[in-house]
Amino acid sequence: MSSQNVRCPICGCLNKGLALDETLGWMECINCKTVVQVQPGKYVKRVPVISMKEVSGLNKSLG
Ligand SMILES: [Zn+2]
Repeated sequence: MSSQNVRCPICGCLNKGLALDETLGWMECINCKTVVQVQPGKYVKRVPVISMKEVSGLNKSLG
């Protein structure tokens, strides 16, 4: 499970906790209801929990 925070390109509203992996990048904005597709890899992971997991995983692979 991986969720993303994506800012709507139409109205700039921040949509939190989107499962873009399941929707192939498609999302419906919670504010303006516009359905847009975010290019894979373009959205930035800003969720601290995911970042911490990645860091701990890197440490294990390095050690
Ligand atoms: Zn919007």
